[in-house]
Amino acid sequence: MTSLDDLPIRDDLRGVAPYGAPQEHVRVRLNVNENTHAIPEGVATDIVTALAQAVMGVNRYPDREFTELREALAAYLGHGLAANNIWAANGSNEVLQHVLQAFGGPGRSVLGFPPTYSMHSIIASGTGTRWVTAARDADYELSPQTVVAAIERERPDVVFLCSPNNPTGTALSIETIAAAYDATPGILLVDEAYSEFGAGDTALTLLEGRPRLLVSRTMSKAFAFAGARVGYLAADPAIADAMRLVRLPYHLSALTQAAAIAALAHAPEMLAMVDDIKAQRDRLVLQLAAQGYTPLPSASNFVLFGGVDDPHAVFEQLLANDVIIREVGIPNHLRVTAGSEAETTIFLDALARIDAR
Ligand code: PMP
Repeated sequence: MTSLDDLPIRDDLRGVAPYGAPQEHVRVRLNVNENTHAIPEGVATDIVTALAQAVMGVNRYPDREFTELREALAAYLGHGLAANNIWAANGSNEVLQHVLQAFGGPGRSVLGFPPTYSMHSIIASGTGTRWVTAARDADYELSPQTVVAAIERERPDVVFLCSPNNPTGTALSIETIAAAYDATPGILLVDEAYSEFGAGDTALTLLEGRPRLLVSRTMSKAFAFAGARVGYLAADPAIADAMRLVRLPYHLSALTQAAAIAALAHAPEMLAMVDDIKAQRDRLVLQLAAQGYTPLPSASNFVLFGGVDDPHAVFEQLLANDVIIREVGIPNHLRVTAGSEAETTIFLDALARIDAR
């Protein structure tokens, strides 16, 4: 049988591992930071109507500029942004790929601060961009000094910051982001996939007058739209010109555009569960501490907790109880997504029965 090693694959892809979060069919799935709440039925009906109309036109290519979607995303973000400030793709993963296709690539580097979102380094390797890393401060924080020192040392072409950071939940200060921008002559991208779960700080407030700053967002998390695959970024209009050079034409299908526009028309309803999810996140932090673990403060919809003797054994025992959470490769730690109240209760009860401290 042919294996990957037998194929004439690019040398720099040899030995690289693909993204591999398990997709198990268990009752309580708290492993990939989805919004576990279904979208409201009334919104679903509107989306289906919009899809039905779009289907009638699928003999034609979709709007290559996805203008109506960009207008809707700009209106959703506010901050004085207009359609020409927005770029979008099939999930923010594809947005990040466009960014590295345009500004990274062979002979160039992207700087990240692990532990951080695992796809950042995988997208770097897929685009032939060298992934360079620097250490964080205590408790996974990042001070302006730490970020600036790393940028001055590594001189990367692109800097990826993640706020709130996955998997730690750590939010960055606006001062850290502004200092990073001033220190780099290259591109600074702030991945704000979980922004709506935070306290309101956003790098969007820094965009004015900073043409090399990109802020990426997604409809996958707070917006409960992960299956539709819609991510986007806000930046100077010149950035969209760069993205046009690397995207495939018509990359956002007519169905994707129609579904996203219909969903954005109901933004407040789509986001209605965010407060409930934040309450479950705060409950997780309290209850995990009460069980003797060491949860980190989180500005996101998940909690990283330490004090786990054998994370893999706990992962497996939870799985045997129909609950899946995430091993993130940090010794003695596991990450759990805040689900509905019922899901969070099932997880906490199962963990208490395992007693893995
Ligand atoms: N950024 C971060 C920090 C994430 O955690 C994720 C998904 N887990 C993404 C981006 C990508 O999400 P999507 O492609 O669904 O927009």
